[in-house]
This record gives sequence, structure tokens and C-alpha cells, in this order.
Amino acid sequence: MHDRAAEQTEPCTACGGARTGWAAQSVEDGRLHRTLEWLCACGQVCDRGRGPAPGGVREAVIARHGTHLLVLADPQTRSGAVPKAFRDVFGLSLVEAARAAAALRGPGWEGTHPEVRLLAELLASAGLPTAVH
Ligand SMILES: [Zn+2]
Repeated sequence: MHDRAAEQTEPCTACGGARTGWAAQSVEDGRLHRTLEWLCACGQVCDRGRGPAPGGVREAVIARHGTHLLVLADPQTRSGAVPKAFRDVFGLSLVEAARAAAALRGPGWEGTHPEVRLLAELLASAGLPTAVH
């Protein structure tokens, strides 16, 4: 099941005609998945995989659905589970994960609904409640 499919139209890379695509992000088995499907007179292309959405998919989902803000119920927590959750979901480097964790402890971390939901699940299972705005 895909929540958050966003429709878009662009010139087909194969035939030059207008093709319609659906970009979607979903959470399956505790992992992010992304799907990009194009339907054109010349055929159908589907790009689907596990992991964070590439820029185009993420942008399409955000353009259509906006972002959600995830905040920690206890911003003072020093728990290593915070950066670990970002590493688990997005495969970030230590530095990137620390930056994302700092945002979460501060103004909040902004992401798509599936991203925010998955992060919230991981943090909750580590005993760190969050709120989504
Ligand atoms: Zn085409």
C-alpha cells in the first residue's frame, strides 16, 4: 500500500510525449520504500525500491502533501537513540545524523508523513515519545 502518491506530468524520456507519473513513499516492515511509476503511450516504467526517496520522489510527495514537523516530547534527552533512528531510516553519516538529531531537539525535524511516522515509531520503541505537527 502506498500512502502519499503524488501525480505529476513531464515529457517522456523515451518518446518525447507527455507521460504521467506517480511518486509515492510508504513504510513497509519498518523500512521506507519509494515508488516512481510512469505511464506513457510508449510503455510503462516502474522504479521501486527500499530506502529513502530520491530527490524527485520526495519533492513530488512534498509538493502535493507538504511536510510534517516531528518534535521530541523531551527535547533535553541525550539518548543515542535519536541519531540512531535517523541513521536507521535514512542511512545518514554520523555527522548528518547528529545534525538531524539537533534539529529534532530544537525546532523540530521536517519530513514527509511516512518519514515522520517511521521516525516516531522507532523513537517510541526506544522510549522517546514524540509529537507530530
Ligand atoms: Zn513515452
